[in-house]
Amino acid sequence: EFFNRIEATDEYIKSFLLLDKENAIKEAKNIDERRVNGEKLGDLAGIPVAIKDNISTEGLKTTCGSKILSNYTAPYDATVIKNLKEAGAIIVGKTNLDEFAMGSSTENSAFHTTRNPWDLERVPGGSSGGSAAAVAAYQAPFSLGSETGGSVRQPAAFCGVVGLKPTYGLISRYGLVAFASSLDQIGPFTRDVEDCAIVMNTLASHDKLDSTSVEIEKVDYTKNLKKDIKGLKIGVPKEYMGEGISEDVRENIKNVIETFKTLGAEVEEMSLPYSEYGLETYYILAPSEASSNLARFDGVRYGNRAENYNSVEELFTKTRSEGFGEEVKRRIMMGTYCLSSGYYDAYYKKAQKVRTLIKEDFDKAFDEYDVIISPTTPSTAFKIGEKSDNPLDMYASDVLTVAVNIAGIPAISIPCGTSKGLPVGLQIIGKSFDESKILNVAYNIE
Ligand code: GLN
Repeated sequence: EFFNRIEATDEYIKSFLLLDKENAIKEAKNIDERRVNGEKLGDLAGIPVAIKDNISTEGLKTTCGSKILSNYTAPYDATVIKNLKEAGAIIVGKTNLDEFAMGSSTENSAFHTTRNPWDLERVPGGSSGGSAAAVAAYQAPFSLGSETGGSVRQPAAFCGVVGLKPTYGLISRYGLVAFASSLDQIGPFTRDVEDCAIVMNTLASHDKLDSTSVEIEKVDYTKNLKKDIKGLKIGVPKEYMGEGISEDVRENIKNVIETFKTLGAEVEEMSLPYSEYGLETYYILAPSEASSNLARFDGVRYGNRAENYNSVEELFTKTRSEGFGEEVKRRIMMGTYCLSSGYYDAYYKKAQKVRTLIKEDFDKAFDEYDVIISPTTPSTAFKIGEKSDNPLDMYASDVLTVAVNIAGIPAISIPCGTSKGLPVGLQIIGKSFDESKILNVAYNIE
């Protein structure tokens, strides 16, 4: 069924970089046989899933949307893939992304641009645009993306689906190709909040192979989903509703606030003063970590190698010059600059200090509020090409999402109506490991 849908629509939407049809059908038949034999099956038995192409899948190409890895096949499964397979989920294919997850529109993919299923002239968001578009277009019932600074929530908002960025450390990063290791987290896209809770039960697990994976007791995310939210305290940061947020997005969120009140929640304006520095902090920390992480792509250990070279140094330089796209090179240069000895204190170290202040902003807020809400993005999906010549403009579309990654806390984006025929996303932010509450609040309002 889903492959038929993909065949009918992907020519226009281009969510996928690779389909694994034969294997998927074989797996589905295998699961069906086990079902007929009365075997006990996993939570996701027979459910198709699409995977962002920066998550390692044994035996399948994992390109990260980059020319440098265009022929790279992962020799092992990421822990999330292992978990999904054990639960019986069936991988239909790998989805398109901005190269190495750097971008907000999927236009930075070395292979093609994915289109927004709501309007093919518009971007699906990024960097997990392929995974978001696949769920929005009914090409898969759920998918995996990754977040460093909003790459699940922003495309979820643009495509009108649910996207969760979990607490840092809740889902194993083992097998996720690193962009900025202190910010990266894998997160799911689903069509509704209940599905999100169900797949989180499979994705969240302690993993010895990821040193930042946190050991906490197993939670059933579906358990508190349907509780009412009477008396819940919700904060609305004024910095997230002011200048730069388009009028139609703001109107939608105001309506949501009214609905929350009718459900018995208390909604109050509040302030997150250091959020103002979120973008600047993110665009120092993320490129710095990226410049270090991407050093491994040198033509020796992974992927493609330049053809003609006269020395080892030339082999490195040519491979990287030919293999990386413009945005990735820009990030490597910015990051290398911020980490260089003369500038380290002024940029990287300073950004780390501001990171702590941003985190403390949230800590204080959660002493008073159960959750914080805001729009997910300043506007609805923009046109293809509209921001691709202006990196700063592109970066600005992450203004409402990056602080959450910097603080390591969880947040979800759920659809909350449309404006001029395009979906608007509501962001619900919670304190660390409070995914159950976020999901409960999201369930009540969806
Ligand atoms: N758009 C942001 C960036 O380009 C976030 C990317 C992400 O979350 N992977 O860095």
